Amino acid sequence: MLYAQVHLTLPAWVHEHVDADRTHAGDEAKVALAIELSRLNIESRSGGPFGAAVFGPDDRIVAVGVNRVLPQQCSLAHAETMAYMLAQQRTQRSRLNELEDGTRVGPFTLATSAQPCCQCYGATFWAGVDRLLIGARSEDVESLTEFDEGPLPADWIGELQKRGIEVVRDLHRDDARAVLKQYGELGGTFY
Ligand SMILES: [Zn+2]
Repeated sequence: MLYAQVHLTLPAWVHEHVDADRTHAGDEAKVALAIELSRLNIESRSGGPFGAAVFGPDDRIVAVGVNRVLPQQCSLAHAETMAYMLAQQRTQRSRLNELEDGTRVGPFTLATSAQPCCQCYGATFWAGVDRLLIGARSEDVESLTEFDEGPLPADWIGELQKRGIEVVRDLHRDDARAVLKQYGELGGTFY
């Protein structure tokens, strides 16, 4: 049978653990939520050690994402791409910061527990975010787990900035590293 639709879901615990009405003012609070999601995801055994969230101009959550690759047999279901897709479905915009008539809205921010891999890096160009906030670095991911981040341009931050996307790194980096380490110690890659 030929499939003609894709169905991806976040684990049910997000409804319990994420307060969608709360504001997350400041960069650190936004990344703290992404890291908390990464931790809950491994503790709940609902995916890999990565979390992300899209925030609107009012510092409220538009959507969250966690890694769902193994539970959903989908290599695209990374935390960042899940958050982008769910934010786009919620706003009904393929570019979060652009209305149908081209009017710019926002700013929209993606906070992620770890530096985007090459897939999520690519997705970030077209998602319609204005800011990218990052916890752990890719070298943290690769040294503490067996995940491969894939190739990025040497000046990957500059390429984003050229297109108007500001990048802030090393927010709560130690906390983000701790979750990656915890995952590695649990044996990694079994969910
Ligand atoms: Zn990714």
